[in-house]
Amino acid sequence: MVYRDYVASPGGLSFGFMPTATIDQLSEPARAFVSSGPQRLVIGDERPEAADGRTFETLDPATGEAICEVAQGGGDDAARAVAAARAALDGPLRKVHAAKRSALINALAELIKANGDELAELESLDNGKPLAMARGDIAAAVNHLRYYAGWPTKIEGETIPVSARDVLCYTLREPVGVCAQIVPWNFPLLMAAWKVAPALAAGCATVLKPAEQTPLTAIRLGELALEAGFPPGTLNVLTGDGETGAALVDDPGVQKVAFTGSTVVGREIGEKCGRALKRVTLELGGKSPNIILPDADLDAAVKGSFQGIYFNSGQSCNAGSRLYVHGDHYDDVVGRLAQFAGEAKVGPGLDPDSQFGPVVSEEQFDRVASYIDSGLDEGAEAAAGGAPERNGGGYFIEPTLFTGVTDEMRVAREEIFGPVLVAMPFDDLEEVARRANDTEYGLAAGLWTRDISQAHKLAGMLEAGNVYINTWGGGDPAAPFGGYKASGIGREKGHANLDAYLETKTVWAQL
Ligand code: NDP
Repeated sequence: MVYRDYVASPGGLSFGFMPTATIDQLSEPARAFVSSGPQRLVIGDERPEAADGRTFETLDPATGEAICEVAQGGGDDAARAVAAARAALDGPLRKVHAAKRSALINALAELIKANGDELAELESLDNGKPLAMARGDIAAAVNHLRYYAGWPTKIEGETIPVSARDVLCYTLREPVGVCAQIVPWNFPLLMAAWKVAPALAAGCATVLKPAEQTPLTAIRLGELALEAGFPPGTLNVLTGDGETGAALVDDPGVQKVAFTGSTVVGREIGEKCGRALKRVTLELGGKSPNIILPDADLDAAVKGSFQGIYFNSGQSCNAGSRLYVHGDHYDDVVGRLAQFAGEAKVGPGLDPDSQFGPVVSEEQFDRVASYIDSGLDEGAEAAAGGAPERNGGGYFIEPTLFTGVTDEMRVAREEIFGPVLVAMPFDDLEEVARRANDTEYGLAAGLWTRDISQAHKLAGMLEAGNVYINTWGGGDPAAPFGGYKASGIGREKGHANLDAYLETKTVWAQL
């Protein structure tokens, strides 16, 4: 996530907010969308209700109030969506040649851009994130689609110089089939774009399952894919909860599952896919270490570390949630971070003054609050925040900074997925590398230093799929993103993720 492009700099703002009736603040297109009655599924070119008519409410995290009703898809709906995807794959989608696929993906990117204001408002309303950040998400989704729009015409097989006489042997790269793509609530449209773009580029058909907390922009994505001209059934949207996602994973018509979310659910999906021998990629949690070495540019390190954890209210899989500061600078760095945290403005996403929004749901509020309690119970001290309270109906949590933390405490070991940073001192490189790697996770790691040799030495020692040097969270559609160890299997982005949607067929022809 290239957060630095659109996160307000820390400092100068004060904590305090007044939740308002945010739906009234929406522009006409966004208000029309949320007011247009229960939001239904997108299956083929139809907009059906759930087969059993069930719905759920999606809530505004700034107020806790319902935004609108959304169809609660079940097993029958999953089967119907998978059948629509298969029909597209066996029918019209098969006839769409590579250059046309490119054009369709570009058309979808342009439609997202054209509807960007509406999409950003819906995202801010549904997820809680500040509107400026939601706009950044939408722009990143457009870029992601544009990157993958370049791929269809470059998917090539090989001719293989086999030893057999008079044989032509070559490979074809073919779409893996019907995909189930399950995304979380922290970057709803962007995560959907990360998933659907490579699938569409490879020529697959897909069923997208957004998180129950944030279904709105995924529904719009499904509508826009039809408007862009994709054959009906290429991109279906199945709203619902975890059971809906499980039904989709279980459907025998699904050939490939792509999941982003918790490690617990990722393990369950991985097990199922292993048994069924479905292709699977998993982008899971993290507890990423961020290391400030003695010779670091402290101004840059403090600013980057602040954003690295509190960006998106700490709800990023690659959040830099464990801060290791060399003992020479520990008190200075902690003091500066505490000051920034104390000055941060937390408020509704649609309030232009908000630097950070609420966390996404009551469940997430309670989860983060219980971690804060556990830190205090285990003896950590809150240098900032540390006392989450429900203010109005919203799920606002002040940036929290813990000191007096040991590596064994739950707040230092478990993924909190909220605005909570633990800061710990260290003495030398070997020690900090060992402590940084002493976790089941391996998604990201960061380090701050002016010493180029130390930087690359430590980067090589860290067990993480992404290492940031003198920055945090840089990203690009072309650069692979994913985790070591329990942080996932496979990579998002780049040609690595395209490969996850392709099978290799080897053809032998006796001449
Ligand atoms: P989940 O892993 O439960 O949810 C992620 C997605 O998976 C959602 O679309 C969810 O649907 C769906 N899902 C849930 N259960 C199943 C299942 N059994 N089979 C298939 N799909 C399923 O995350 P939570 O929303 O519950 O968040 C809990 C924690 O997960 C967070 O506190 C954080 O630690 C971590 N997380 C990590 C993310 C990351 O980017 N790595 C993103 C989000 C969360 P639904 O939401 O509708 O139930």
